[in-house]
Amino acid sequence: MSPNITLTSLKMASTSPLILRVVATSVVVANRAGEIIRDIMSKGDLGIVEKGKNDLQTEADRSAQCSIIASLSSQFPGVKIIGEEGDSVSSDVPSDWNVTDSDPSVLALKCPDNLKSVKEDELVIWVDPLDGTSEYTQAWISKVTSLLDHVTVLIGVAVGNKAVGGVIHQPYYNYLKEGAPLGRTIWGIIGCGWGGFTIGSAPKDRRVITTTRSHLDATVQSALDAMTPDEVLRVGGAGHKVMLLLEGKANAYVFASGGCKKWDTCAPEAILHAIGGKLTDMVQGESYHYHAEVEHRNSRGVLATAPGEDHSWYFSRIPESVRQLLSGSSTSSR
Ligand code: AMP
Ligand code: MG
Ligand code: MG
Repeated sequence: MSPNITLTSLKMASTSPLILRVVATSVVVANRAGEIIRDIMSKGDLGIVEKGKNDLQTEADRSAQCSIIASLSSQFPGVKIIGEEGDSVSSDVPSDWNVTDSDPSVLALKCPDNLKSVKEDELVIWVDPLDGTSEYTQAWISKVTSLLDHVTVLIGVAVGNKAVGGVIHQPYYNYLKEGAPLGRTIWGIIGCGWGGFTIGSAPKDRRVITTTRSHLDATVQSALDAMTPDEVLRVGGAGHKVMLLLEGKANAYVFASGGCKKWDTCAPEAILHAIGGKLTDMVQGESYHYHAEVEHRNSRGVLATAPGEDHSWYFSRIPESVRQLLSGSSTSSR
């Protein structure tokens, strides 16, 4: 980077609205987390811990969260940050995990009026340091390297109840293409802009639905069947599935389960909404809330559709029995 660009970004970094500074910093922070995730895999000791049934944590989840939270909390001390790995991660952070840079192209955006004066205490950052841990561990144990594409780092920014900004980093993007840059980061802010990817047009002549590959059960399957898909893409991670919608590879993401959490959906939802798609629950068809006190589980399921899709059609197909089951597992309003 030339000295002039550095100076310009430093100036913008101090004068840009807070929301832009948080997303711009999150882009660089997510890239660093991706390097940490790759380093741990290449060193060959994942340090796997079972958090619950079909729910794993590795050294990569812990270290990536450590780096993300240390970096964001030192730059934005008044912002509430909620990470999937909770307080189980060490507060002892190597200095090269503490990222202070920010992405100049995000800093240079024109901020919409409604977000210009947002203050630190109005923001909540939802962090999933490694989305797709099942696939990350299986890629390592069974050497099924195609699963590495499913791994993402998710940093979502909420203002009040609403998911407004998001960053998704895919650390293994291009890993099979020799000479191509490894990893990519996509971002979006509602009403402001998006970047790092090209919007694709979802299939018009077929219905392609993406869903879980590692958390399938009878309820998930019955909601899927009700959508009469022509093709089902079973892939890991909420981040990766929403990427398929952003890039036009699937029409909808259907997950009739309370297994996803707010850190899984905040960033993907914000980016999807920034380009005109929609993510809601499956009981009332409403957006989830992302304030600091909300229930972590998305207990009413996840239904997301690509831009141009008729979300209400997918919602209308959800069987009443599935709606009943999902509304029964809810413990809070959203
Ligand atoms: P999947 O689509 O199965 O990859 O899940 C998307 C996200 O939700 C991942 O972060 C999963 O860990 C999480 N998730 C989904 N279902 C469950 C579950 N039954 N238990 C724990 N985590 C889940
Ligand atoms: Mg996750
Ligand atoms: Mg995770």
